[in-house]
Amino acid sequence: MLPDTPTGKLLIFTAPSGAGKTTIVRHLLKHFGKLAFSVSATNRPMREGEEDGVAYYFLTDEEFRSRIEAGDFVEYEEVYPGRFYGTLHSELHRLWSQNMVIVFDIEVKGATNLKKFYPEQSTAVFVNPPSPEILYQRLRDRNTESEADLEVRIARAEEELAYVNTFDRVLVNDDLKTALAEADEIAREVLEIGK
Ligand code: 5GP
Repeated sequence: MLPDTPTGKLLIFTAPSGAGKTTIVRHLLKHFGKLAFSVSATNRPMREGEEDGVAYYFLTDEEFRSRIEAGDFVEYEEVYPGRFYGTLHSELHRLWSQNMVIVFDIEVKGATNLKKFYPEQSTAVFVNPPSPEILYQRLRDRNTESEADLEVRIARAEEELAYVNTFDRVLVNDDLKTALAEADEIAREVLEIGK
C-alpha cells in the first residue's frame, strides 16, 4: 500500500560510477534547502565512515529480499553481482510529506525506471565524464574496491555511457566549477526559483 501523501518533484542525477554525480548532488543539497536526498536501501557492506540511514539504509540479503516481495520498492537493481540497491516508496512519501523536492544519485537503469514511474514529476540529468578513458582512470584512482570489483565497475560504466541521450539533460563534468554552476541552474528551474 502506498501512503496517502501527494507526490512531488524528483530531480534525478544519473551517471556511470566515477562520473562525479555524487559531488554534484552533495553540492546541491548544501545550497538548496528545499532539496532532500533520497536515501536508498542496499545490501552491500557498509564502508568506513558510512552510517545507516544517511548514505543508505543498510539491509541484510534477507531483509532486502523480503522488501522486494512486499512491493516496497519503486525500483531496484542488482547493480553488481549480489549487490542490490533500491528506492523505497516509503522514502519518497516521507520526503514529499515534508514538502521537499527529492534528489537522487542513482545508476542508469534505476533512473530510467524512476522516470517511468513518475514521468510528469521527474527531471533526469545524465552526468557525462569528459571521456570514457578519464572515467576509467578515476575509478582506478578511487581504489575503494578489490581488483575484481574494479573490473566489474569498469565494464558496467562502459555499458552505462551508451545511455547518455535517453535523459532530459546532459551535464558534462569536465571542469567541476562549470558543472556545479550548470547543476545550480537546473535546480533553480526545477525549484522554480527566480521565475
Ligand atoms: P556505491 O556502492 O558506490 O555507493 O553505489 C553503486 C551504484 O549504485 C551507484 O551508481 C549508485 O548511484 C547506485 N545506486 C544508489 N542507490 C540506488 C538505488 O536506489 N537504485 C539504483 N538502481 N541504483 C542506486
